[in-house]
Amino acid sequence: MDKEISIPAYWKIPYQEEMIGKITKIRGKELQFSQKFFYPGGGGQLSDRGTIIYADKEFPIIDVYKDEEGIWHKIKSKEKIEFEEGKEVLLKLDWERRYSFMKAHSSQHLISHILEEFYQCKTLKANFEEGKIDIETSIKLSLEQVLKAIEHANDIINSGTKIESIVVNQEKYKREFKQRTRGKTSDEKTVRLIQLGEDEGFDLVCCGGIHVKNLSEINGIILENLKAYTLKLLVDQYGLTFANQQRKMMIVLEELTQKKDEKLVEMIQNKLNNFDILQSGNVKLLKMIFSNLQHWKITINRLSCIFFELPEIDRQAILSAAKEMIEGFLVVIVGKNEILYILSSDESIPANEVIKKLLEITGNKGGGNKAFAQISIQKVENPLKLVEDVIKSF
Ligand SMILES: [Zn+2]
Repeated sequence: MDKEISIPAYWKIPYQEEMIGKITKIRGKELQFSQKFFYPGGGGQLSDRGTIIYADKEFPIIDVYKDEEGIWHKIKSKEKIEFEEGKEVLLKLDWERRYSFMKAHSSQHLISHILEEFYQCKTLKANFEEGKIDIETSIKLSLEQVLKAIEHANDIINSGTKIESIVVNQEKYKREFKQRTRGKTSDEKTVRLIQLGEDEGFDLVCCGGIHVKNLSEINGIILENLKAYTLKLLVDQYGLTFANQQRKMMIVLEELTQKKDEKLVEMIQNKLNNFDILQSGNVKLLKMIFSNLQHWKITINRLSCIFFELPEIDRQAILSAAKEMIEGFLVVIVGKNEILYILSSDESIPANEVIKKLLEITGNKGGGNKAFAQISIQKVENPLKLVEDVIKSF
């Protein structure tokens, strides 16, 4: 390692959960420490969280970011606390969160490498959350292609491949690494590289993120979703939990559709024209959807939102199923007869407030309460997009 390069602790000792440091700078409730222990975020990886122990009291760190002055740690405390420069603090990482980011980030390097090798498909953007990876690809991949890539990735993960973190100066980078770098090259004075595999490895990327030492720590990658150019993957226990939930849903669905079929047969046999039976099937399906909302959620302004187009579903069916709705969601449904329904189990965004704004924009008729409201969307172009814009304004 080149002597003149100072390597931050988050690169040097990524598995250490605690460290003693000193306060070196104070700006209100934001502190700098002598140790670069918390990752300030970057390269698609979110910043670390954790706590500090100062004067025998524990304070959560709610944000870590870097500016031209250094790495700032935002401290949460209700009371006014006098931090003092030079004083010792114990820095404690939210290790579970960090470790899940490390696994997700390393998984992304592996998958991006395979997509390029198999399909000459580049990764345009990558984001990580706990056990989660979103990859935006340069070409539209088929489900078969993606599954083949994931299968290959899981083989490599199972074989126990090492990951190396390399830090060099620009001269050495140009001389020894630049020509075999995948993706963007670096002009920085100090270049940090992540290599998959031993010796010269099989993949080399300029990356400031934090990675696991061995790909086997990931345990496995599972496909969560594939939409046009976006690949959503889950790793480790997040993947396994998801796979089991999906299986459970499939089993419930199989049971439901079977029951529905039996009733349909019965209906035809008895020459009944009883639409209540079909209706009750819909309610059952809706109830299942409402109790598993997390599978469809998208996040807008930190709100968990779900959009459905269910042209066969009417108000009564939605109201019956709404009892099953879990806390903290906003559900938007375009239902029968061009009526848009909004259901909210999130206090911060009442359904009638959203409808109120839609009424102002469209001039159509509607109304409701905090939990349930509706509006006619006749002559409204792309109503779901309109609702999305309204939600963004909250
Ligand atoms: Zn990276």
